[in-house]
Amino acid sequence: MAADRLNGLSMHRNWNRMEAVTGSLPVTGAEIVNYLHGRSRWLRAREWLRGRRYLPARFMDRARPLVVVAYPVRDARAAFQVALAVEQDWLTAPQPGREAYDEILFKAPGLIVLQLRRKNPCGCLGHRHPYVNEQPFAEPHEIFRGTGVGELDIAYTRVASWQPLPLSDIALDTKFLEGTRLEDFRAKQFRLKMLSILLHETHHMVEAEAPETAIRERSIAFYHDALAAYVENAVDTMSLTIDRSFSRME
Ligand SMILES: [Zn+2]
Ligand SMILES: [Zn+2]
Repeated sequence: MAADRLNGLSMHRNWNRMEAVTGSLPVTGAEIVNYLHGRSRWLRAREWLRGRRYLPARFMDRARPLVVVAYPVRDARAAFQVALAVEQDWLTAPQPGREAYDEILFKAPGLIVLQLRRKNPCGCLGHRHPYVNEQPFAEPHEIFRGTGVGELDIAYTRVASWQPLPLSDIALDTKFLEGTRLEDFRAKQFRLKMLSILLHETHHMVEAEAPETAIRERSIAFYHDALAAYVENAVDTMSLTIDRSFSRME
């Protein structure tokens, strides 16, 4: 047993060393922020005046890919929602839905630039981009350590009004949700739609030949299951409070 443990340890150490040698350690959000701040003062001032901002977000259960939300400063709130979706809603989504994206995220570029827009002229919810256009990420840089960089866009006002599924399709009645619970539900729904589109476009990025129907089916299933789990949980905690108030009355 001791030998096994030692073996495991040395394997782990070798793996770490290998990562260091090949330079394939995952890029972190702090590194991206550090890189952006390290650019010339003139460049940063111009970007600042243009209102361009960047927000890194990572899937908390995996080292890569790192998502960098690129957004106009006036859309900061929506950018924070996307980051929250990647960092929290992903983690609380049901396991099977996340597992369905395990290999896709594993094969995805280590850095994904998400251009946040209000609308797309073509009316689409999102696209994957053949090239990286976002200036700080368009050229290879040593900070990326050779990791692939991919880019996509999401039009968030379109997403807000988009109904991927009739609400009746979510197993549990949302009519029980009122007031702040209903607001929470709508915010969660928006974040899950954004997350499912991010996963959808990343899937296109990784499997360029895969048919749209298969890609859509997977992202809609992820959205449906995550939202249904959320509603189920919300209704559960609600009936718990009702039970308690009943027992208090006795
Ligand atoms: Zn389009
Ligand atoms: Zn598609």
